[in-house]
Amino acid sequence: MNLIMKSNVFSLFFLLFMVPITAYTQDKTISLQDALKILPEFQWDPFLQTGTFYSSGHYASFHVGLKGETSFSLVDGYEVISVPSPYMENGVIRFPERFITSLKDAIDAEMKRDVKPFKVAAIIIDPGHGGKDPGATTVQTINGKKITLKEKDIVLKVATNLRDQLVKRYPDKKIFMTRTTDVTLALEERASFANGIKIEENEVIIFVSIHCNSELNANLKKNPARGYEIWYLPPKVRREIIEKDAFNGSDEVRTILNTLKEEEFTYESKMLAVLIMKSLDEFIGPVSPSRGAKEEQWYVVKRINMPSVLVELGFISNPSDAALLFEEQSLKKYTEALFKGISDFVTLYEQPGGFNIIE
Ligand SMILES: [Zn+2]
Repeated sequence: MNLIMKSNVFSLFFLLFMVPITAYTQDKTISLQDALKILPEFQWDPFLQTGTFYSSGHYASFHVGLKGETSFSLVDGYEVISVPSPYMENGVIRFPERFITSLKDAIDAEMKRDVKPFKVAAIIIDPGHGGKDPGATTVQTINGKKITLKEKDIVLKVATNLRDQLVKRYPDKKIFMTRTTDVTLALEERASFANGIKIEENEVIIFVSIHCNSELNANLKKNPARGYEIWYLPPKVRREIIEKDAFNGSDEVRTILNTLKEEEFTYESKMLAVLIMKSLDEFIGPVSPSRGAKEEQWYVVKRINMPSVLVELGFISNPSDAALLFEEQSLKKYTEALFKGISDFVTLYEQPGGFNIIE
């Protein structure tokens, strides 16, 4: 353990009076003055014989040892690096050149970590159902014609257009669809596809599942349900985000990490839901009503370990919504709304400091 003097007055005092300083470079050691050209600030504790170099908001501490000895330095209070030990000789402290360059490299690495921006690395668009599973199905009379509407077809159209727009807007991101054709796909397959994508610490993947609602016996009702809504997972559902096999630490630590990760995902999912909802209000709101963004735990994204939402575009059991979801022109508006909501999320997530700024 070392004591780090935080006061500049003290550090100046120690710099001037307490630290024996070599006047010139000797062998492969360098003086404190030369070291300070590389690492601009230094504090010394003469009682514990420990020192700390500071540079660009980072620091590396060490203890003096014997000449030729290998010692360690603690970088930013958590990373231990092995270094040739600084030592006292004739009352002056000598820094092996490799000691200073190792500290500089370690601090540079920390600085790189600082500037690594938050990034949405991938966007997964999940058209619900498909193949043998048509999802909701209704027959509606649109423009005098009897039309069979299938949820799986509508959501595939929207998802494909959305994918094309996202690819154009974000050539540097991976844009996936869980299915691009009319195939049957189990929920597990959708989840394991999404969870299988590897990302960096500063990155996130977002998952948007697209569906249509349907109401039983809607045609018997005076006011059949209509409108769009968005679901996201409530925080009370604890997922095994960090799997047992992939983690070396104790179960207790894993549980805490899972909780933290879950809270982060819930917050991000909610933000994604709110932004898509805002965009739907703008594009669709005038013609079909909003049913709100809601927390629920039964839907597909329960097993998806990332910010994820499920969007219900409208009720195909309702004649007015069905007409909107059938016409190419209005279907484009749904795509446009989803695209804007997702890109608003990307902009917010990728701004310096991420979401913290708006909290
Ligand atoms: Zn569905």
